[in-house]
Amino acid sequence: MANISLQHLDKIYDNNVQAVYDFNLEVKDGEFIVLVGPSGCGKSTTLRMIAGLEDISAGTLLLDGKDITAAPAKDRDMAMVFQNYALYAHMTVYENMAFSLTLRKEDPNVIHKKVLAAAEILGLTDQLNKKPKQLSGGQRQRVAMGRAIVRSPKVFLFDEPLSNLDAKLRGATRREILLLHKRMNATMLYVTHDQTEALTLADRIVCMSMGRVQQIGTPLELYDTPANLFVASFIGLPPMNFFDVEVRGGSLVSPYFTVAMTEEEKQLLADYEGKTIVLGVRPENIEAGGEDVKVNVFSNENLGMNTLVHGYLGGNAQTITCKLRGWCDYRRGDEVNVRFVKRHFFDKETTNAIR
Ligand code: ADP
Repeated sequence: MANISLQHLDKIYDNNVQAVYDFNLEVKDGEFIVLVGPSGCGKSTTLRMIAGLEDISAGTLLLDGKDITAAPAKDRDMAMVFQNYALYAHMTVYENMAFSLTLRKEDPNVIHKKVLAAAEILGLTDQLNKKPKQLSGGQRQRVAMGRAIVRSPKVFLFDEPLSNLDAKLRGATRREILLLHKRMNATMLYVTHDQTEALTLADRIVCMSMGRVQQIGTPLELYDTPANLFVASFIGLPPMNFFDVEVRGGSLVSPYFTVAMTEEEKQLLADYEGKTIVLGVRPENIEAGGEDVKVNVFSNENLGMNTLVHGYLGGNAQTITCKLRGWCDYRRGDEVNVRFVKRHFFDKETTNAIR
């Protein structure tokens, strides 16, 4: 069992920088939580407070109901995997993986069994006698995970574990981490600035900005119903397009287009008549066709099943990115009519989603 309860956690560093404000989260046993957000938003600080590597300035941290707010790192029964692997160069893979257990003076037979079992899970059985420098980046990352696994911790903490790997290896290692999670059924918290990792790995995502939690939910919830403009722009690639529009007599009116609202939208936006709101449209929710929105193409990128079309609306003050189905061959200067098949709305002042 490993439930974690984070209650009103604050972190203020010695130089008076507040890195985390009022962080609240209930992590269920076996859950895979991903903390995501841009660099500097407080993800690592939060993870390090959970690990016991940073003091908690205010708030309470419970592990299985027990208060561990002030417990030293070594008593927390958690293992952390870092992005820079931190392997011992002079030790073999076996010795690296066995190291923490040797320090704890565990029975050598038990250590041997645990290392072999972890090596098996990670496909490192043939590499145990090698030194780290004889391994690829992906294999080194697996050794780092092996070191965590042998300790059979209650909780695994990952701090950007894939950021030193190239794109292809990142994809493969991501799948390994998912498999690892399934096999071990362990509670995992994972920090990344990469929204793709968050969407593909998480049971639930915690999206952060400037030290504050913006939204907590399943990947689909964050993608489909982002709580505010920040989450809407951070989750999804290419990012959502945003347009200022006025709600006027059943239409959404921008300097560049006027589109009719559905009955449902009219109800949703009834209080905004005459006001300017932000319309959000994901590139993949734009289709070729219709009369309403005219895109002046400036680039056409074929991705195989889809084509990314970048263009201007009207002059060149407003750009738009459309992910159109199929293989398109638009040229610079072509005019394409598109329609928005799904639309998101945000209050311009609060930046919150209008729902
Ligand atoms: P992230 O992991 O999201 O990139 P961090 O948690 O590392 O963000 O940092 C959050 C904020 O706290 C940043 O403004 C960073 O400069 C600041 N910070 C991080 N570590 C320290 C430290 N040891 N002392 C002072 N400020 C720090």
